[in-house]
Amino acid sequence: MYVGIDVGGTAIKAGVVDDNGNILARSSVDSRPDNGEEMVRLMYVAMTRAMDRAVVGRDSVTAVGIGSSGLCDNRRGAIIYSPNIAYSDTPVREYFMERVDARIDVDNDANCAAAGEYFASGGDGGTFVFVTLGTGVGGGIIVDGRLLRGVNGGAGELGHTLLYPGGRLCGCGRKGCWEAYASVTGLINDARERGGWFAAQPEINGRTPFEGAAAGIPEAVEVRDRWIERVAMGVNNLVNIFQPDRLVIGGAISREGETLLAPIRRFVSENAYTRGVPGIRQTEISAARLGNDAGIVGAAFLHKII
Ligand SMILES: [Zn+2]
Repeated sequence: MYVGIDVGGTAIKAGVVDDNGNILARSSVDSRPDNGEEMVRLMYVAMTRAMDRAVVGRDSVTAVGIGSSGLCDNRRGAIIYSPNIAYSDTPVREYFMERVDARIDVDNDANCAAAGEYFASGGDGGTFVFVTLGTGVGGGIIVDGRLLRGVNGGAGELGHTLLYPGGRLCGCGRKGCWEAYASVTGLINDARERGGWFAAQPEINGRTPFEGAAAGIPEAVEVRDRWIERVAMGVNNLVNIFQPDRLVIGGAISREGETLLAPIRRFVSENAYTRGVPGIRQTEISAARLGNDAGIVGAAFLHKII
């Protein structure tokens, strides 16, 4: 039995997870993003509540995984920094090790989601790329069952690859990153800039262009299709770099399903380096399966891919 803890700026969610990825019990406590040390205590509270609800003894939990936004040092089990939670090289593993006799892993939320989706889609080795489209664009890369970390644990920042030199300002301070276009924030900005039908909408969110396009609104079709093409351009770069067995797209917008995926697959089949090579295996592109539970399940399974 494992525990996965998904730490966000508003809530800390914990779940007791079995080997098949089923969440047997869960709990949620409010975050205290202004106090990093208090956050660690609350992670522990969330864990014990979920364990009490699952009616499992402390000794039947063999691994605890913690996924948080920000830069994490998995070797030391510390969270170094987060833009929205006041950590300062906070020793999460140390706190847990003093209180629970289990393996403790700490990693960022995108890597956890990648781990969850990897196992949800078979977990059978090879090269796996997870891309999440949300406020930003994040992801994780798993090669031969191991998470790719890079020299400092910061590998997988897929959104901060360059798409248009000198282009739109990105949250990281640079111009033209893929994230500035392919995030849902980018899509909403596209819709606002386009105006017309969009200007008459009471609220614009990530679904608005898809809903408008489905209703045949020309501005919405234009904004949606251009956004999908920019998503596809970045996906195609990832396919060329990694030639993954599987590439999974997550984030709430992945619920658009084939409306989003079919044009991405078409773009990649027309643009990837291996396009048109007969008899060669190509990357399988699909939508995430775990939805909001990817963080909990992925954190619980961190020990399997590290
Ligand atoms: Zn950037």
